[in-house]
Amino acid sequence: MSVKTFRGGIHPEGFKELSLGGPVTPYLPQGDLVFPVNQHIGKPAKPVVKKGDLVKAGQIIAEADGFVSANIVSSCSGKVKAIEERATASGTTATCIVIENDGEFSLLEGVGKKHHAGTFSNKDILDAIQRAGIVGMGGAGFPTHVKLTSKNPESIDYIIANGSECEPYITCDDRLMQNQSRGILDGLRLVLQLFPDAIGVIAIEDNKPEAIKSMEAVCAGEKGVMVQPVQAKYPEGGERNLISVVSGRDLKFGQLPADVGCIVCNVASLYAIYRACYFSEPLMKRYFTVSGDAVAHPGTFEVPIGTSYQELVEAAGGIKPDVTLKKALSGGPMMGIAMPSLSAPITKASNALTLLSEDDVELAEAQQTACIRCGRCSRVCPIHLIPQMMADAAEKKNYEQYEKRLYGLDCIACGSCTWVCPAKRPLMQLFKQAKAEILAAKRK
Ligand code: SF4
Ligand code: SF4
Repeated sequence: MSVKTFRGGIHPEGFKELSLGGPVTPYLPQGDLVFPVNQHIGKPAKPVVKKGDLVKAGQIIAEADGFVSANIVSSCSGKVKAIEERATASGTTATCIVIENDGEFSLLEGVGKKHHAGTFSNKDILDAIQRAGIVGMGGAGFPTHVKLTSKNPESIDYIIANGSECEPYITCDDRLMQNQSRGILDGLRLVLQLFPDAIGVIAIEDNKPEAIKSMEAVCAGEKGVMVQPVQAKYPEGGERNLISVVSGRDLKFGQLPADVGCIVCNVASLYAIYRACYFSEPLMKRYFTVSGDAVAHPGTFEVPIGTSYQELVEAAGGIKPDVTLKKALSGGPMMGIAMPSLSAPITKASNALTLLSEDDVELAEAQQTACIRCGRCSRVCPIHLIPQMMADAAEKKNYEQYEKRLYGLDCIACGSCTWVCPAKRPLMQLFKQAKAEILAAKRK
């Protein structure tokens, strides 16, 4: 099948080979596990346990507060040690439930046993997804049951399984597609049942030949499901870009994927849907990449949610003895968040920890000059925005211009413009700041 792509984008070095070798290591944390109640877009979940309670792995410890919210489940057995404010990977704090891990990982009765022959009503599927607390696991964190609840399911033509994983260094979805292709396909089939007129398209960048082979092997002979290789280009995995590549439809400013007949689900979320339906297993572990030039043994781990980033650094052999860690990112180098501390926990939408010996932001600050109007930033923007003008408006805090004339709120903070800018302007940082201030003003 021919390889497709979108207009714009960049080709940063992938560094995927660092973490692709070796087996996926199931990691059992030793220390306390920490569960922020706001691991999703929407209202934070409400704790339903109190200090001193004993819990099992798979037990709901915070319940969704309303429809646009998600349950939080303990991934270990032990005792509730505290419910308190703790630092998260973004550097902000959140209410967290801290479980003193007893090291047994005893499962709640009924969790994790294959019990279903494979016939589900649509309500069974949506209830299982909601109960399991599944959210977008590619980083978005949007509650999946909300995304899949449609008043008009016949209007959806495409369910796009996002296996593109375009960020440098990150390889956990690649490994998941290689190891769990059947489960991903079964998860996709469950979603397709909810949308009777849709076909399933599994989009995978062409720098993942093993994942493509593995998914093509399980999809062979399956009606209404296909694998679509897409060009390895950043940010190929952005929702708008994938929709354009797979369906040929362009999202207009302010439109949602469903408005053009598409729903995009990360492959890890599809696998979680399969586990929730067939095994009554809530979302309590995930594939996770530890990589970067500063860590001794980069690799992929299957890790319980709530594990601290610090523990995983140690599991990956620690920081190389001859290297100084300059930057730790939750995620990859393009869209990841610089972490002030490694004590924060891994959440449902965390997919990677990237440990680097250079801080590119620090280097860029030292070299920054005025804009030379070269236009490179506009040429690579996948959303077809005008970053140099957005940056001018953001610097002057002219947010009327930024939002209404330049459509700055549509920026997906992919960082492509920053990456190509010869003047080393901190474009993406300006846009994130502008968006945060505009949205805060709107909330007021
Ligand atoms: S960060 Fe925003 S403005 Fe810059 S290329 Fe990405 S989408 Fe376009
Ligand atoms: S890439 Fe940088 S220097 Fe070139 S127009 Fe954009 S902001 Fe200006």
